[in-house]
Amino acid sequence: MLLPATGVEGAIKAANQALKALEEPFVLGVLTLDMGASIGIALWPDHGEDADALLQRADIAMYMAKQSHDGYTVYSSERDETSPRRLALMGELRHAIDDNQLFPLYQPKINLQSGRAVGVETLVRWRHPNLGVIPPDQFIPLAEQTGLIKPLTIWVLTAALRQCRLWLEAGLEFSVAVNLSVRNLLDPQLPTQVGELLKICGVAPKFLELEITESIIMADPAHAMEVLAELRKMGIGLSIDDFGTGYSSLGYLKKLAVDEIKIDKSFVKEMAHNEDDTAIVRSTIDLAHNLGLKVVAEGVESQETLDRLAALGCDEAQGYHISRPIPAPELTRWMNESPWGLKREPPDQATS
Ligand code: C2E
Ligand code: CA
Ligand code: CA
Repeated sequence: MLLPATGVEGAIKAANQALKALEEPFVLGVLTLDMGASIGIALWPDHGEDADALLQRADIAMYMAKQSHDGYTVYSSERDETSPRRLALMGELRHAIDDNQLFPLYQPKINLQSGRAVGVETLVRWRHPNLGVIPPDQFIPLAEQTGLIKPLTIWVLTAALRQCRLWLEAGLEFSVAVNLSVRNLLDPQLPTQVGELLKICGVAPKFLELEITESIIMADPAHAMEVLAELRKMGIGLSIDDFGTGYSSLGYLKKLAVDEIKIDKSFVKEMAHNEDDTAIVRSTIDLAHNLGLKVVAEGVESQETLDRLAALGCDEAQGYHISRPIPAPELTRWMNESPWGLKREPPDQATS
């Protein structure tokens, strides 16, 4: 679609109209087909000076829209995998893993009944020598595209399990969660490797949790179910991350060998002021409980939200209101000093 004399708003409006028009089912003989569309938007002259450049950028934006299931996406050079910055970063990532430029942060998760910490989630960062600290959203997708996600995940798992062992030795008993990517779950060696790492680090499987997004599972459900079942048999906790944002069918949810779901922060963040979000969270909690699953709410940013979640019967909560993701020594202190912490030892005996 060529839209002369219009700006980004006009383009978005046209995109939304096109998406709306495609919502009508398409009847093909005896078949009724539901269609979706992904639209990429590029603007002259910001994103390209000539037709070739504009088409190429619109194409890239369309793939971004496909990936994020957003319907439409406006081109942005930051998210463009072919942009020079991203290409340079991709080259540096391998070295970063070997050179220990990655570092983990840990964010606590509390039980809403006891009000105590029950676990932490490991969230990786990259301390780049020139660019400073890079958030995972900017390099995990690169790692996924280059195959580096495997060594990266092993690095994070090793760091998390070593730290878990230190906490256990210090009398701080709680689970440590690590995020997995699609490629990890499609890797047949994964369960064996995780098993070996648990042994090497001397951590019982029940202290490890693996977080998997819906999109991972839907990419190859049969295979994913197999690997998940194997991990679960080993005694590792499994949770479905970003629940509500993907397309996982309820049928799969029933069949998957998982223990909990994490309601995506987009539904939780504004819950206290948004009745629609509260309704979504309430039904998700009920649904999960009916399937025998535990429910974690992520993105809890206020006491009000925490109180609402408790009233709705949500099992666990995580978010900035409780604690931001922090380095291990700070987390140890938090466990000892925070009202939600474990209060096992005086703070001066904190480890690591
Ligand atoms: P995620 O797994 O959904 O992790 C939660 C994200 O929400 C984290 O962002 C966390 O810092 C942020 N968050 C926590 N509480 C709040 C809150 O109250 N409000 C808001 N607005 N945000 C909150 P982060 O650390 O930037 O990580 C982003 C994503 O990167 C993660 O999303 C996860 O998908 C991915 N990621 C992080 N570490 C790893 C890793 O080691 N391996 C893989 N495969 N992915 C990782
Ligand atoms: Ca997660
Ligand atoms: Ca999440």
